[in-house]
Amino acid sequence: MQNMTRRQWLFRVGGAVVVPSLLSSCRPGISSNVDEVGERLSQAYVPLKPNDCVACDNCMPCPYGIDIPSNLIFSDRAIQDGYMPGALDGEDFAVKGKRFLELYEDRILNKAQTQRCIGCGECLGTCPVGIDIPDQMSKITALTDVLRDLRCQQL
Ligand code: SF4
Ligand code: SF4
Repeated sequence: MQNMTRRQWLFRVGGAVVVPSLLSSCRPGISSNVDEVGERLSQAYVPLKPNDCVACDNCMPCPYGIDIPSNLIFSDRAIQDGYMPGALDGEDFAVKGKRFLELYEDRILNKAQTQRCIGCGECLGTCPVGIDIPDQMSKITALTDVLRDLRCQQL
């Protein structure tokens, strides 16, 4: 990823399949700018690695209602069970992304999902296994934002 241009990355994730569907997105604002779409996809592809959250709840409660451990454990499970969409997945990116989003929305209440994180930092330094929680929240949000746009295009 580090040595790839955005267009190379888009090609590797199956951009030839994904991008045309995004070009006519039903969500205003991402409809016609290929570079913008590419940028969003690039941001969405974050090499999420297992967090190894031990569900100790030391970081809780989040003042904004995010269920931090559930989000992290969901992310870890997606990696372990093979439906975390990744840069080298090609056309499988869409298949995995659909599964990821369906399960995410089924298992984590909207009000407890990562997009509610405002990066207030209250959880920083609370994790005994050293997880950078705001960073992980933002990575999951970047991914789910793009997956929701793709779903809008009948992923
Ligand atoms: S940084 Fe995000 S997850 Fe952490 S306490 Fe603040 S809103 Fe909650
Ligand atoms: S403090 Fe760390 S290990 Fe404990 S629940 Fe929160 S993120 Fe998970």
